[in-house]
Amino acid sequence: MKINLKQLFSIVGESKTINCEIGTEELSDIRGYTFSSPVKVDGRVYNRAGVVYLEYSVDFTLNIICDRCLKELDRDYHFDFDHIVVPSISGDNDDYIVAEGESIELNEIALTDLLLQLPTKNLCKDDCKGLCMICGCDLNEGQCDHLN
Ligand SMILES: [Zn+2]
Ligand SMILES: [Zn+2]
Repeated sequence: MKINLKQLFSIVGESKTINCEIGTEELSDIRGYTFSSPVKVDGRVYNRAGVVYLEYSVDFTLNIICDRCLKELDRDYHFDFDHIVVPSISGDNDDYIVAEGESIELNEIALTDLLLQLPTKNLCKDDCKGLCMICGCDLNEGQCDHLN
């Protein structure tokens, strides 16, 4: 979703509500992750004392595979983000989002933000016992005759 910020940059006190969804089709392009729901994006952009802020949260469900026992499960995620948006910038500064042509691509920003937050390791539960190295049975569900 493209958000035009022309008014927001010029009018102090102006604000705009964000309420959109990133569809599963767009999400299927992301490698390494399987989304089992759309990403819901809620928030607002507003101009406070001449500075434009972007505040939003994302809600979505990922289909993950436990690194230890290989069980597949859906896990819900919620993250909050905030940024300052500037119309242009001189030099490199990662702290700000630059609105090219006075607009921002919210989907791109949200996906970049949330991918950075996702854990690289996934466990079905913190104390997952994993699989037996010898017979491959799920040690969460019972013991086999092999010593760990
Ligand atoms: Zn597990
Ligand atoms: Zn075993």
